[in-house]
Amino acid sequence: MLYFPTISQQFVFFPSFCIIVSNLNTECQGKIMAKLYFKYGAMGSSKSAQALITKFNYEEKGMTVWLIKPGTDTRDGADIIKSRIGLRQRADIIHPDEDIIEAYHTAGNYDVIIADEAQFLSPTQIEQLRTLVDEENLPVLCFGLRTDFRTHFFPGAKRLMELADSITEIKTICECGRKATVNARFDDSGKIITEGDQVVLGGNDRYTAMCHKCWVDSIKEQEG
Ligand SMILES: [Zn+2]
Repeated sequence: MLYFPTISQQFVFFPSFCIIVSNLNTECQGKIMAKLYFKYGAMGSSKSAQALITKFNYEEKGMTVWLIKPGTDTRDGADIIKSRIGLRQRADIIHPDEDIIEAYHTAGNYDVIIADEAQFLSPTQIEQLRTLVDEENLPVLCFGLRTDFRTHFFPGAKRLMELADSITEIKTICECGRKATVNARFDDSGKIITEGDQVVLGGNDRYTAMCHKCWVDSIKEQEG
């Protein structure tokens, strides 16, 4: 059974996807095994665009993709995955206490699962995705942030780091040209916030990806 788009197709879109292809043929007792992928990046690293392009690639090969995103929000449009370059698709919302294995079987027998904003899934839900990979031989691709505005792991991202077969970074750069690794949170007045809840629902804070040095230097500067 073919689980992945062709090398040439993936290469056309994103050379980095060759990492997926090169790791593709994992065999266990002669059987090709599906994998759990974690593709993480800082804010603005095009994770949602890559999630949607990956979905397109699978569907072009005749495979069905269950697109999901975590959420508590039920407002209009909350179930849309949007990228800054204009791609958008509707996704099924996974609620905080929802069992993903049950939700998957209710949704239908899709060939692949793609999750955006996977850092907001709970550790238990990541374990449920791992079970789907192992028991259903279903490829699961999770796109999301690794760390929060204080450089600490999101619990879901930490569990992905522990359980994923394949972990790759989607890179983006800081204003200074270094690789951005910190998702800096700014208040209305443009000051970097270093304390507060990991997730603020409905907040007006802005986020910018920065390198660690610029983040630390900016905090020192604003503290005078
Ligand atoms: Zn920098």
